[in-house]
Amino acid sequence: MSEPAFIADPSVAPYNVAYLVDDRSHLYHEYDVDRDRDHGPAAPDRNGDTGAVDSDRDAPVDYPARREAILAFYGHRCGRCGTKVARQSDEETSLGYVHSVAAEGEPEWALSNLVAVCEPCYDVLSTRCCEDLGTFGDTYREAPQFPTWTCDPRVAVERLPLTGREAWTRHVLSDRIEDAPSCRANHTVVRRACLARSTPAAEAVALGKALVRDERGALSTSNRRLRERWHTLTAHEREEWESRAVDPDTSLVTGGFEPALERHPV
Ligand SMILES: [Zn+2]
Repeated sequence: MSEPAFIADPSVAPYNVAYLVDDRSHLYHEYDVDRDRDHGPAAPDRNGDTGAVDSDRDAPVDYPARREAILAFYGHRCGRCGTKVARQSDEETSLGYVHSVAAEGEPEWALSNLVAVCEPCYDVLSTRCCEDLGTFGDTYREAPQFPTWTCDPRVAVERLPLTGREAWTRHVLSDRIEDAPSCRANHTVVRRACLARSTPAAEAVALGKALVRDERGALSTSNRRLRERWHTLTAHEREEWESRAVDPDTSLVTGGFEPALERHPV
């Protein structure tokens, strides 16, 4: 597997195959999707306080066809974590959703703005405020902390650490990655999703690669994998890290995880 060009140079088109082949116009005809409905219903509901558009309620009537087209276009893989997705879930396959990465003013439901995602990643990407967390269960906890390198960079967000171990793992991994170029392809999602850290897309992917390398790479006998090393920390140390994780039941931002936009203005 060669190094994705996107990591080496953010000015090069992102590496995800689905994203590279960005002409999706043929899908409109193929799946009988009505281009006139790309903006969704005429008057979208807005959630008073947040001003956020509730995508689910605003879905156009041809949503099923759009979903089918996008799931197929992404090869029935989640655009963030790469897990298998389908129209119906079974033991090996997650229920496939589509998430819109449309920026302000762009057509929310245009096929070019939709990404296929699994249910846990959908929850991470679409949960806009803490009060919404848990509304549909706690599936978001199953979403991988980091995106996979084959992801669509527009949804390449790092999930906030939900446990002390995740906070610690992230800390150790950050020393193992090169200074990844700052790529803001994921800024729309980062801005909207309360569970997303402000990490640039390239850095989030690099962290994910470092974790995979740690879990699956070759080891010398003196080395331990991170998941084993975590257990060698003292109880006190582990408690300290626990306090740096996010507790969605009480307050999302605890232990020094600053609001995303202040750290990395977009
Ligand atoms: Zn996923």
